[in-house]
Amino acid sequence: MPPGATRDDMTIRREQMVAALSAEFGIKDVRVLETMAKVPRHRFVPDALKAQAYRDGALPIASGQTISQPFIVARMTELLELDGSEKVLEIGAGTGYQTAILASLARKVFAIERHEGLAREANARLSELGFRNITLKAGDGTKGWEAYQPYDAILVAAGGPKVPEPLISQLKTGGKLVIPVGEKGENQVLTRVTKMPTGVKIEEFGPCTFVPLIGDHGWPEEQK
Ligand code: SAH
Repeated sequence: MPPGATRDDMTIRREQMVAALSAEFGIKDVRVLETMAKVPRHRFVPDALKAQAYRDGALPIASGQTISQPFIVARMTELLELDGSEKVLEIGAGTGYQTAILASLARKVFAIERHEGLAREANARLSELGFRNITLKAGDGTKGWEAYQPYDAILVAAGGPKVPEPLISQLKTGGKLVIPVGEKGENQVLTRVTKMPTGVKIEEFGPCTFVPLIGDHGWPEEQK
């Protein structure tokens, strides 16, 4: 970045990222695009990587995790078809970037992150940025968050072997759940589950790559 670079450079880069999400990546939901043009992704990435904050790629964060690629954040959010009235549950909050996008598009977001350090940092960052409609805790999100169910929408930002059963039971009828499902670290498919009065509707939206969803209804903890 040139000397004397200001926040405006970040704004310009962010606008270019959003233009690409629309023109090259086919994101159509205008509310999603407008929100991604506002939320400062560079505030969520490690200092050393700020210059790369608006490239379309995942970036490493603390605890060996990643902040998701902007396209996949946009796509998953778009698939939830939020109108602003929803109570949303997010699993795998990481840096809180996806949480901030959801909180800008829905009424209330409950978020869970497995790593305590990440959860603490995400909470601090989100309140510093002025978000007041987010409740974020550390824990195993594959069990859902019983206290605030049922949810209108659920987003899982880590890849599981299957759709965790508790998440389906905590989803409202008519509600949508988006999750990468597949093998550990590969051959994952972006999957949308819509809860019907009887059973569920499953739709698939192409390949994706996420860090593993680790928990009671996900993958077992890594052997050390
Ligand atoms: N949306 C995040 C992406 C984080 S990567 C962002 O934009 O920053 C996925 C996250 O899921 C990781 O931080 C990982 O620790 C977390 N995770 C994995 N299994 C989990 C579980 N069972 N419950 C909650 N979080 C989990």
